[in-house]
Amino acid sequence: MTHRNKALVKGIVQGIGFRPFVYNLAKKHKLNGYIQNTSTGVEIEVEGELNLIEQFFSELENNNLPLAQITSIEQFSLPPKNFKDFQIKESRSQESKVTLIPPDICVCDDCLKEMNDANDRRFRYPFINCTNCGPRYTIIKDVPYDRPQTSMNVFQMCENCLQEYSDPTNRRFHAQPNACQVCGPEVTLFDSKRKLIPTDDPILKTAELLKDGFVVAIKGLGGFHLAVDAQNNEAVLKLRQRKNREEKPLAVMSRTVDLIKQYANISKEELDLLISPQRPIVLLEKKAQNNLAADVAPKNKYFGVMLPYTPLHYLLLENNFLALVMTSGNLSEEPIVINNEDAFEHLGNIADYFLIHNRDIYLRSDDSIVRRIKTQNTINRRARGFAPLPVFLKINFLQILACGAELKNTICLTKGKNAIISQHVGDLKTEDSYKFFKQTVDHLQKLFDIKPEIVAHDLHPNYICTQFAMELENVNKVGVQHHHAHIMSCMAEHGLDGPVIGLSFDGTGYGADGKIWGGEVLLVEGADFTRLAHLEYTAMPGGDAAIKEPWRMAVSYLHKIYGEDFLNLDLPLFQKIGKKKIEFILQMIKKGFNSPETSSMGRLFDGVSALLGICDYATYEGQPAIMLEQWAIENQSENIYNFEWSKKNGIYQIATSVLIKNLVDDLIHGKSPEQISYKFHLTLVKLFTELCQKLKKETGRNRVVLSGGVFQNITLLTGLQNALKKENFLVYSHEIVPTNDGGISLGQAAIAEATK
Ligand code: ZN
Ligand code: ZN
Ligand code: FE
Repeated sequence: MTHRNKALVKGIVQGIGFRPFVYNLAKKHKLNGYIQNTSTGVEIEVEGELNLIEQFFSELENNNLPLAQITSIEQFSLPPKNFKDFQIKESRSQESKVTLIPPDICVCDDCLKEMNDANDRRFRYPFINCTNCGPRYTIIKDVPYDRPQTSMNVFQMCENCLQEYSDPTNRRFHAQPNACQVCGPEVTLFDSKRKLIPTDDPILKTAELLKDGFVVAIKGLGGFHLAVDAQNNEAVLKLRQRKNREEKPLAVMSRTVDLIKQYANISKEELDLLISPQRPIVLLEKKAQNNLAADVAPKNKYFGVMLPYTPLHYLLLENNFLALVMTSGNLSEEPIVINNEDAFEHLGNIADYFLIHNRDIYLRSDDSIVRRIKTQNTINRRARGFAPLPVFLKINFLQILACGAELKNTICLTKGKNAIISQHVGDLKTEDSYKFFKQTVDHLQKLFDIKPEIVAHDLHPNYICTQFAMELENVNKVGVQHHHAHIMSCMAEHGLDGPVIGLSFDGTGYGADGKIWGGEVLLVEGADFTRLAHLEYTAMPGGDAAIKEPWRMAVSYLHKIYGEDFLNLDLPLFQKIGKKKIEFILQMIKKGFNSPETSSMGRLFDGVSALLGICDYATYEGQPAIMLEQWAIENQSENIYNFEWSKKNGIYQIATSVLIKNLVDDLIHGKSPEQISYKFHLTLVKLFTELCQKLKKETGRNRVVLSGGVFQNITLLTGLQNALKKENFLVYSHEIVPTNDGGISLGQAAIAEATK
């Protein structure tokens, strides 16, 4: 007897080879019917023997397509219709759109094999792709994901390509970016004056230029890179100087894992991250002896490393490079450049040459940055390969737009059980980055058909993203405290309901009392939070200038402990900075001139880093804390510093001055900065473990959530995880959303949902 079943499949099922897979599966089970992309996923009808239909759906559910992610299959049985065959029908676009859009994926092995086959028609074609690989999110203008809606719409497929594209059994069936040498995009090489460099092989020529020490801007998948030979220190320094990037590590790309092993250590888990189809930058420990230029990652124990992810990268790296520096093509604080015109304009003073192509990038997406920490993956920057994959929520949310924070901005849109976090937008400090922010808001709303009922924003009145939210009309607005958002972000990621004890540690966030928060212990339950404890307030002389010059924080702590007598101490810092500057800052603190108060954990790390002579000027965000952690040398027998807290107005104030006084004593007695740094970390672990035990008694809460940028510090993160677990706490930290301000938007959305 013939049966007919209809199914609506939702999840990531478009643009990833799902339809040819289903087509072949139906053929295998001798089923007729059709499959069709809709705006909400795919619709399938199959007709045939019941047991074959059942097998069909069971295999569909357990498919091993690398990129598919099925979130639901709704099935109905219907009266038979006598389909004559199995068809792939044209897409429909009228319904409400919640199809999940796949991110961009690295070139697959099948495509690479063809690219390296001299008999293949795409031999050495730098844009080879198929339904299992290639660009997606960055070329999509609208859904459903079909060629006319992508930046491939200007390329008319040749006969051969069209045949592949139309054949359901072919790997390129409906591969939207399908192309070849005859009909597709091509690369060209220019100098910085926009003069075309005549050559038969622009990629080979580019390799030669890189070997000669030139800086080349290379158009990639989600934006431009600036490339130099990573073994040529002169070239690396030239790039740093022109890009105005002093010491922040530069990412590198190597052709194979074996090459990477020559300069970095790779664990099994790190290897899995490196070769994953997302191809993120993975932070890997440097080998003590390595042949990369010293200035690739100065004063740092790690390299940020990735494998090639486009065919073009593979072709370029064939030319015997150990590694290429591949850093974002932007001026500092600007968004990464994506179009050719802008590249010449913005990068003209940095790059000597430009390897460009004529496939437009519609939406920029930086390289993602991940790190393996003991037993968990963490993500410092979530962009290419990950966005716009949703974070799956435990409950249905309203349609909400959350505008994020000002640094490391992302936005978040929610609909149903999906939280779509945008790719890393970056620091909203320039006009261009604000433009990108607005474009991202518009684009994601359009792609996912979301009309926000609520807009969530930070409390900081001067954040441009707060002002953006304020100016929106006909929508409810919810202001969210920054550190509350950090904790709720982690709770949403883990599907936790409150109340929890949240340790929210970061550099800067606008406090509910108008002061600068950042070392906060909060009791969080949905829309509400109570401040349970925080680091005692300390002056930040010069405001933001104290972030760039962490020695100012050192002076501030010293003044707090010793008054002006601190000038009589014999500290290395004084020689380095000079009495005059120190006196000047001292006056600022005494007069309270431009010295806002902060409870920031980030500033505590800054102050200690400067006190120990590790970093007195920060050349990039977080540098003093990063270096402080990297200097720490583990020492089993190490005891810890004293600490104290006292209760004022029902809130515990943690006395950082007691801790620092002890630390200064060690320093004066000749203890090494390496030992002191480790002892400092241990002290914080012990302090917050004891504090959590106390708070557990008072609140009855046993779950601790760790969030905020400071938790990029592994010593602190794993130290606290272990110590708290030993005391039988349940401990949660971030794995799929950044712990830094890149995760704020998700927390804002979750709080807005809880507020409704
Ligand atoms: Zn492929
Ligand atoms: Zn073609
Ligand atoms: Fe933060």
